[in-house]
Amino acid sequence: MIIQKNISLKKFSTFGVGGTADFFCEIFSKEDLQEALTFAEKNSLPLFILGGGSNLLFSDKGLRCLVLHLKNNTITHLKDGVFEVEAGTKMGEILGISKKAQRDFSLLSTIPGTIGGAVAGNAGIKEQEIQEVFLSATLYDREKKEFCTKEKEFFDFGYRKSIFHTPKISDRYIIWKVSLNLPANTPEKIDETLKSYFAIRKEKQPWGKTGGSFFSNPPEGAAGFFLEQSGMKGACVGDAFFSEKHANFLMNKKNATQEDIKKLAKTAQKTVKEKYNVTLTPEVKILNEWGKREEL
Ligand SMILES: Cc1cc2nc3c(=O)[nH]c(=O)nc-3n(C[C@H](O)[C@H](O)[C@H](O)COP(=O)(O)OP(=O)(O)OC[C@H]3O[C@@H](n4cnc5c(N)ncnc54)[C@H](O)[C@@H]3O)c2cc1C
Repeated sequence: MIIQKNISLKKFSTFGVGGTADFFCEIFSKEDLQEALTFAEKNSLPLFILGGGSNLLFSDKGLRCLVLHLKNNTITHLKDGVFEVEAGTKMGEILGISKKAQRDFSLLSTIPGTIGGAVAGNAGIKEQEIQEVFLSATLYDREKKEFCTKEKEFFDFGYRKSIFHTPKISDRYIIWKVSLNLPANTPEKIDETLKSYFAIRKEKQPWGKTGGSFFSNPPEGAAGFFLEQSGMKGACVGDAFFSEKHANFLMNKKNATQEDIKKLAKTAQKTVKEKYNVTLTPEVKILNEWGKREEL
């Protein structure tokens, strides 16, 4: 395994934003993981766990960490729709294997990123969340220096969140492998769902550099509705702008910085608060240079 130095984070985030990571490596196997952890310990480096980078807004200062880019992607169909999927597996890759076994992962497969990232954030769409097909996961426990299995209750899933949103947990555990229980369906029905869902995404969501929905939907309704009604569609700071197609998609035209995006998002947050007394909180993880989540 190679540990690289001073790697630009731009191409590892769907936002295309970020400075450089001090240290960066790709993890394919348990041996890679052990080697990386030893290196981090010897050099007193904090770790940052990177999946598909589709929900992250890196700092313009980059990361003073060792980034572990999880690329482990073995999928095993154990029996009767129970699949073991390694954390670095892309959501779309699961679809291919599950469809062959006549098991349905169609809706969730349209979400960008990896299964590890999806479990950490309980990714989902209106019709289904990852927690609905989740059974258990194998985690690496950095405190005990061993792998362990945790059942669903441990994850404390909520709307676009899990126990991995608690720093105490995300600092201690790495999601290594996930067990899913997928319902039976015919390949024809699976294709049908896929086709119609991709058509909806194409119609409603813009294409480009983004982290998906920027704000979580508040209890009062859809974040996109409040943003649109507050005149945020098309609003911009530098190269950061709110999409004309979907007001909750904050985009990077070309060279937006984290600062531009934060400034624009703060303005939107303030405008919605003043107009509707509704508080919007970011769904995208805004990171500081130590890989910790920052508030807006
Ligand atoms: C165009 C677009 C559309 C989107 N649509 C949706 C949608 O419909 N629904 C939805 O829920 N999301 C959506 N998203 C957001 C994003 O795809 C999801 O949040 C996704 O699950 C993030 O997975 P990832 O692998 O990219 O995680 P990353 O962005 O790499 O990481 C997210 C967080 O998870 C942690 N993490 C990642 N892997 C692990 C691991 N193995 N162990 C421990 N922690 C880990 C990271 O440290 C980080 O804190 C969209 C994004 C884009 C760009």
